[in-house]
Amino acid sequence: MSEPDPRAYVPAPGALEDRVILVTGASGGIGAELARSCAALGARVVLSGRNVKKLEAVYDSIRSACGVRPSIAPLDLEQADASHYAALVDAVRGEFGRLDGLAHVAGQLGERAPIEFHDVVAWMRVMHVNVNAAFILTQALLPLLKLSQDASVVFTTSGVSERARAYWGAYAASKFALEGLMQVLADETDTLTNIRANSVNPGKVRTAMRARAYPGEDAGSVPLPSQVMPTYLYLLGSASRGITGGRFDAQ
Ligand code: NDP
Repeated sequence: MSEPDPRAYVPAPGALEDRVILVTGASGGIGAELARSCAALGARVVLSGRNVKKLEAVYDSIRSACGVRPSIAPLDLEQADASHYAALVDAVRGEFGRLDGLAHVAGQLGERAPIEFHDVVAWMRVMHVNVNAAFILTQALLPLLKLSQDASVVFTTSGVSERARAYWGAYAASKFALEGLMQVLADETDTLTNIRANSVNPGKVRTAMRARAYPGEDAGSVPLPSQVMPTYLYLLGSASRGITGGRFDAQ
């Protein structure tokens, strides 16, 4: 029998019941939509982001739509030091005792410029937020992921991580590195039946980042974040148990 197409995945009601799922970049765009979708399927969601006001707005939308209270875990991936990561881990351990899903959605576009003129500090910032922070957060949360019966780590990649293009600079390089991080983690956890790691390429999605990358584009022609949810939800739930090391196009 062939594998189901994750893009066509239709989760059953309660498909994520009681799963504890932390979403980075939960303050807007794809991350906020993912947090709402996970909560609607019964997950206990931890909203992570750097802007507490925006996280509170997502919290309110989840509360009014699903009647549940997600948790808020503020973390600025550019500024965080070891103590901030430790505080987040302690908070998740204290409230839930384990983690079943870690969705890395936060990311920065950085500047679009040729390598010759790419600002060095801007390069470092994008690499830090998009790759280093994903590594540090994953490492910090691994002890809690190991306590899950079925843990799933999902990284958010991009079309430019397969074939980079001119002027995509640090963003493209960071997404190549993120794929590498995912593959290393998947290989290292291959013998553990309870942890898997995969990546999702959302394709073009109507968000603030997309508008910044393509300012002249007719936003109405760009798919909404809801359209890329099936692949994320498939990978975060038990339907994809045993699937690891893969890169999935959400469109
Ligand atoms: P958004 O700009 O809407 O979302 C990016 C998210 O990352 C925001 O929640 C933002 O927080 C968060 N973020 C940025 N910097 C930090 C930081 N220092 N600390 C914590 N959080 C931070 O864009 P998208 O929703 O489109 O992007 C989500 C992911 O999808 C990204 O990884 C992106 O690379 C990827 N992607 C998107 C595509 C698209 O067409 N939209 C295509 C391919 C990949 P804040 O609200 O505070 O700014």
